[in-house]
Amino acid sequence: MASNESVLSSAYLAVEYIDSLLPDNPLQLPFKYAWTYMLDNYTKFQIATWGSLIVHEAIYFLFCLPGFLFQFLPFMQRFKIQQDRPETWEGQWRCFKMLLFNHFFIQLPLICGTYYFTEFFSIPYDWDNMPRWYLLLAQCFGCAVIEDTWHYFLHRLLHHKRIYKYIHKVHHEFASPFGMQAEYAHPLETLILGTGFFIGIMVFCNHVILLWAWVTFRLLETIDVHSGYDIPLNPLHLIPFYAGARFHDFHHMNFVGNYASTFTWWDKLFNTDSQYNNFKTKGKTQEVKKTK
Ligand SMILES: [Zn+2]
Ligand SMILES: [Zn+2]
Repeated sequence: MASNESVLSSAYLAVEYIDSLLPDNPLQLPFKYAWTYMLDNYTKFQIATWGSLIVHEAIYFLFCLPGFLFQFLPFMQRFKIQQDRPETWEGQWRCFKMLLFNHFFIQLPLICGTYYFTEFFSIPYDWDNMPRWYLLLAQCFGCAVIEDTWHYFLHRLLHHKRIYKYIHKVHHEFASPFGMQAEYAHPLETLILGTGFFIGIMVFCNHVILLWAWVTFRLLETIDVHSGYDIPLNPLHLIPFYAGARFHDFHHMNFVGNYASTFTWWDKLFNTDSQYNNFKTKGKTQEVKKTK
């Protein structure tokens, strides 16, 4: 019987072989220059701290932008999930102020720990040790599976009637979510549910790029499910068992059920998606009645 090690090395060789058949990624060279420039001109502390802050802020507001603009485009209104609850200026402004507070007073102190984390675990920054894009994708998927599991159970616990009003009520202030609201939460919730983000990093991190790749994926996912719009041809729906905007939108509308962040399996397994399934079936029957 082959040992675990030989199975792993055969898998690695197979991946290397497939990689040799793939054409060179045209984006690789400019990315390599940019990465080397960054390493040559900034210290590891600056990269880990300010680099991570810039990646988080830029990605967050960039990904929120399309959903924010949809409210001004009449064409996009057909994709709005809760048609009877349009976005309000007052709500969005309140959300923006709370976000800035959370980003700079809760997340920034955590980001300041990134450098010490990478030093403690000897995580490399150099170009040669950077994992290839497909390994990075697989690592991000692994991080998402772990985060989703953590999120399902802790989020369900935060809904417990004895503690709901103290922490999670803040995130549920908006019954019809919008992208910017993804991180609108009580500071304690940011810490409790945010822990799930770091477990995958502990398990998989073998290069600083994974921190940035995983934060990008996680923000893209959480902003998409909070966007309030179910747009067609959304590439995120290519991910197997991806929950999507309708799934989490229902959680904000109904308060009960659909507790997972990224995937649908935990809710299916514990039957916490039953109200959502009934809601979907009712919607379909009404549509059939309308067309008759
Ligand atoms: Zn909730
Ligand atoms: Zn939410």
